[in-house]
Amino acid sequence: MLWRISFFLLWQLAGAGLGWWQGGVWGAVLGAAVAVWVWFVWDLVKGARVLRWLRTGELADTPEMGGVWGEAADRARRLLRNQQAEVRSSESRLQEILAALQASPNGVVLLDAQGRIEWCNQIAATQFGFDAERDVLQSIGNLLRNPEFTAYFSARDFSTDVVLEGRLSTPSRPERISVHLHPYGDGRTLLLSRDVTALEQADAMRRDFVANVSHEIRTPLTVLTGFVETLQTLALNADERARYLGMMAQQAVRMQSVVQGLLTLSRLEGSPLPGMTEWTPVQSLLERCEEEGRALSVLLTQAQQRPHVMQFPSSEMLRLQGDIAGAPSELQSALSNLISNAVRYTPAGGSIIVEWTRQGDGSAVFSVRDSGPGIAPEHIPRLTERFYRVDRSRSRETGGTGLGLAIVKHVLQRHGATLGITSTLGKGSVFSVTFPASRLRAPGLPA
Ligand code: ADP
Repeated sequence: MLWRISFFLLWQLAGAGLGWWQGGVWGAVLGAAVAVWVWFVWDLVKGARVLRWLRTGELADTPEMGGVWGEAADRARRLLRNQQAEVRSSESRLQEILAALQASPNGVVLLDAQGRIEWCNQIAATQFGFDAERDVLQSIGNLLRNPEFTAYFSARDFSTDVVLEGRLSTPSRPERISVHLHPYGDGRTLLLSRDVTALEQADAMRRDFVANVSHEIRTPLTVLTGFVETLQTLALNADERARYLGMMAQQAVRMQSVVQGLLTLSRLEGSPLPGMTEWTPVQSLLERCEEEGRALSVLLTQAQQRPHVMQFPSSEMLRLQGDIAGAPSELQSALSNLISNAVRYTPAGGSIIVEWTRQGDGSAVFSVRDSGPGIAPEHIPRLTERFYRVDRSRSRETGGTGLGLAIVKHVLQRHGATLGITSTLGKGSVFSVTFPASRLRAPGLPA
């Protein structure tokens, strides 16, 4: 500033000196006045340039000039540059935060104080049918027309969530979305949504399972208790006693089978996958299947004197990767179970054909074909559910628990194999197990 005042004085002196040289004292006064005016106008022009530039704020157009105005422009330019860098960094931080919210596995919607959508991620857009761009600033109440949500939103008690029916929900494919609002900032609200369909289904399955187990155990228990009371209160002759005790033993065996089946399932769920180094000769599996199948058939058909017509595959040299531990092994029980079902459900005199075939791609199929009652198509997808039976009384008559196919499915999954069921009502069923080529070895090859 001192320099500027000195320069102004010098400039005035120079004007006065020039005026003195041209016209004496009056010339000096006039010269000083003209110098002041020139200084003033020049200063105005520079100031106007700086102001004009500040209005646009374009860093690239910063006016190049010296003096105080030059310094002011320079400082303003630096300030502007810092400010723009800050804006850019905040913008990129905001984008990063939005990208993180976008990557969230749950739906996220940011609502302003009036309940209008400020931003939402793709998951929320899909769950609620929003358009993430078009619906910005639309009121959530107008877009999410669900009475439960409306009540939840207007009550403004956001301590818990509300579970809504998904917009694509159908009776066969239910969809349940949990919505939880969290107030934040200046009256704003954060909406978090989560697909809880699987959770609710798992919960329902757990409840069903407990109810089924209780039912399965309670029924024979009630019968047993009844017989015990009868034996305690009535004077029965030896024959009657023996008959009642026989029926009691039957119920006890039934309960035992249910508990055994449940223990098997829980062991399969909890135990590690079978070792990949164990190899079982397919031949010995098939031989055991035949032995057990024929024995069961004799037992069930001897009264009618019409045995099943049974056919089993001849020799097979392959080895199958799978656990051979346990007697019988997991694999053995699963394959035998399919044969046992065929024997139990096929009336005496019917046919049961067991086959082992190699496919072109190296995989192998173990199949059990029977000429039994067959299964209606609507039951087929549910047969591997625990306790699912097409005909409860028929299953019970033959000592079934409704857990057999659930166990089979589990064992096969653990061995990389798949179960296929085809059936024609009144004609019979085919239960087939496909083992992938990777699980089979020709004899002689190292494991
Ligand atoms: P269960 O112990 O009752 O036999 P499973 O889980 O083995 O239970 O089978 C489930 C249901 O599938 C059976 O109750 C029966 O209704 C049906 N099922 C299984 N195998 C056959 C078959 N070979 N023929 C007809 N129905 C079958």
